[in-house]
Amino acid sequence: MPLIEPKKTIEVLQKHHFVFNKRFGQNFLIDPHVLEKIVAAAELTKEDAVLEIGPGIGTLTEALSDAAGMVLAIEIDDKLMPILKETLAGRENVIILHQDALKADLQELSTHYAGGKAFKVVANLPYYITTPIVMALLEGNAPVESLTVMVQKEVAARMMAKPGTKDYGALTLAVQYYSEPYLAANVPQNCFMPRPDVASAVIRLKKHETPPVGVQDPALMFRIIRASFNARRKTLVNGLKNAAELKLQDGAIRQALEKCGLSEMVRGETLSLEQFAALSDALRELM
Ligand code: SAM
Repeated sequence: MPLIEPKKTIEVLQKHHFVFNKRFGQNFLIDPHVLEKIVAAAELTKEDAVLEIGPGIGTLTEALSDAAGMVLAIEIDDKLMPILKETLAGRENVIILHQDALKADLQELSTHYAGGKAFKVVANLPYYITTPIVMALLEGNAPVESLTVMVQKEVAARMMAKPGTKDYGALTLAVQYYSEPYLAANVPQNCFMPRPDVASAVIRLKKHETPPVGVQDPALMFRIIRASFNARRKTLVNGLKNAAELKLQDGAIRQALEKCGLSEMVRGETLSLEQFAALSDALRELM
């Protein structure tokens, strides 16, 4: 019986006297339809190297091992190590590492275990570190091709949001600069054990080969974005002026806005990624 069957999950947990650790965001998947949807959304072939963050007792890992060439699974909880050893025994294409995924050197892991290939990341993410993990996988030169991840429903909404909506923010712009998001499934609380407090969603982020907008200094653009959203409901001029680390003069901000055809009354939360890119380039010239 596969681990995804609730009966099997309970059997494994009882056999090992496993106690859930809230600190590690442990909500194990027990719904076969959701499992199928995750694997389908990840579009795996036997050529693929998968990186799974937080395998738990190995439920998703089992399905990934059937669909992909190899699976590298990183789990932080030492109590799960003997369980994974047993549940995934005999699966030669699975490697389990006992590590904090946030501290993993993905470049080295890819070289060492995946012949330098970019990973397809597939995970039911621990919710307490969703944003730092997703950003680390998207940013920089992480050898990652796509992410198919279970996140809180409201986080998925923020990743997919449109300008001017309540969900739109720095996370939206970062996700959309690096990738194209697509909602693969909505997942209710009863698909997990134990039941989480909030609903979830599976989101697929396919990394862009080149970003959808050109900007001279992406790091500066993201500093400007963060400053704009720190001062929600204020004008962009005020938000940027109050961001001490940017050291922007009022006059320079107004000049840059004018160059971009934006009103001095405009609020940051209404600007598109293209507009933030243009504003960043205009401000850069005046710094
Ligand atoms: N993949 C399993 C499933 O779907 O049933 C478990 C998912 S559970 C939501 C999250 C898993 O991530 C847990 O096994 C937890 O111990 C692990 N985890 C939490 N923080 C982690 C970290 N920093 N690095 C690696 N794994 C972590």
